[in-house]
Amino acid sequence: METSGLETSGLNVHDVTETVRTFADFKEHECVLVASEPASGLHGVIAIHDRTLGPALGGCRMWTYATEAAALTDALRLSRKAALAGLPLGGGKAILIGDSKCDKTEPLFRAFGRFVEALQGRYITAEDVGTSVREMDWVAKETAHVTGSSQTGGNPSPMTALGVFLGMKIAARHRLGQETLQGRRVAVQGLGHVGYELCKLLHREGASLVVTDLDAAACARAAQELQADIAEPDEIYAVEADVFAPCALGAILRDETLPNLQCKIVAGSANNQLQTDRHGEALRKRGILYAPDYVINVGGLIYVAAEVLADSLGTDIEAAIHRALAALDEIFERAERENMATNRVADRIAGERLAKAKAASTAS
Ligand code: NAD
Repeated sequence: METSGLETSGLNVHDVTETVRTFADFKEHECVLVASEPASGLHGVIAIHDRTLGPALGGCRMWTYATEAAALTDALRLSRKAALAGLPLGGGKAILIGDSKCDKTEPLFRAFGRFVEALQGRYITAEDVGTSVREMDWVAKETAHVTGSSQTGGNPSPMTALGVFLGMKIAARHRLGQETLQGRRVAVQGLGHVGYELCKLLHREGASLVVTDLDAAACARAAQELQADIAEPDEIYAVEADVFAPCALGAILRDETLPNLQCKIVAGSANNQLQTDRHGEALRKRGILYAPDYVINVGGLIYVAAEVLADSLGTDIEAAIHRALAALDEIFERAERENMATNRVADRIAGERLAKAKAASTAS
C-alpha cells in the first residue's frame, strides 16, 4: 500500500511494514503503521492484513504493552481475523499502548481518529478490549471510518456472546452428539462484556455454570443471578465441565494449563486463546474439540460491520452470524477427515478463500 504522503494532521507516523516482516506473526500483511503524538499521549499501531475482500475492519485495543514490539506482535496476530467471516471486508487492527483505566482522554482518541482518517477508509476502527462507545464517539469527531459509536449502534458484545453461544451448540453437536446445552456444564473464564452475556444465554438454555473472574463482584453477581458456582482464577482449567469458554484474555491454552483441562470442548470469545499453533494440535490429541477463536467470536465483527455493509449484509444480523458460523461445521468436518487440528484447518480455509478472491480480482 502506498503510504508516503499520508495526510496525518501533525502526527508522527512511520511505516514499519518492512521492520515487522521478520516477526513470526507477519503473514504478508499489507501495511503496518506506528503513530505518536507527545501532546495527546498517542502511541498506536494500525495493522492492515489484506484488503482483497474489502476495506480492513477491526477493533481498537488499549493495553499496557511492555514494549512496542509486543504491541506490534498483537496487532499482527489480531488483524488476520476477517477472512472467514464471509464478509466483503479485510482484516485490520489498531493497538493503543496505554492503561485503559487511566489513560483514556479525548485528545488521545481524537489523535487516533486523525490517524484512522489519514488512511482514507482503508482501515475502519471499532471498540475492543479497553475501549468502548464513549471513545468511539471521540474518534468519530475526527473520522467517519469508525463503527460502534453511539451513532452507529454501540456495544457489539451481546452479538459476540450470541455468536459464541450458537457456535458452542455447533461444537456440541459434533463432539457431544446433540446440539442442546441443557443439562451441560460450562466453565466460563471472564465475566466481562461478553462472558456475562454468554452466561445469561447458557443459563436460559438450562446449562449449569461454573465461573471465574478477577473481579469478585462479577462472580458474586453470577452466583446470585445465574446460580453459577465460583472457581478461583487458576482453578478454572481443572474444573470438570463439558465446555470450557475462555472469555478473558489470550494465550491461556499453553503448556502449563493444557494438561489440566477436564472438558470436551473449548469454545469462547477470547482472541488468540492458543499460545502457539502447536497447542491446537495438543488439544486435538487430547480429544478436546477446539472452536477456533476468530471463527466463533465473529458476532461482534458482524455487528459493527452491519453499518458499513448495510447493502450487502442486510438488517438481520443474527442470520448473518448463523451464515458465518457455518464455517465451524466445515472446519470440524475437515479436521476430522484430515486428522488435523481445527486451528490449522481454519487458517487453511481462510488462506484458500483469500487466494481465491485474489485470483478473481487479478483476473477481472
Ligand atoms: P472485558 O474486558 O469486558 O472482560 C474481560 C473479563 O475478564 C474482565 O471481567 C476481567 O476481570 C476478566 N479477566 C481478566 N483476566 C482474567 C483471568 N486471568 N481470570 C479470570 N478472569 C479474568 O472484555 P470483553 O469485551 O468481554 O472481551 C473478552 C474477550 O473476548 C477478549 O479477549 C476480547 O478480545 C474478545 N472479544 C470480544 C469481543 C467483543 O465484542 N467485546 C469481540 C470479539 C472478541
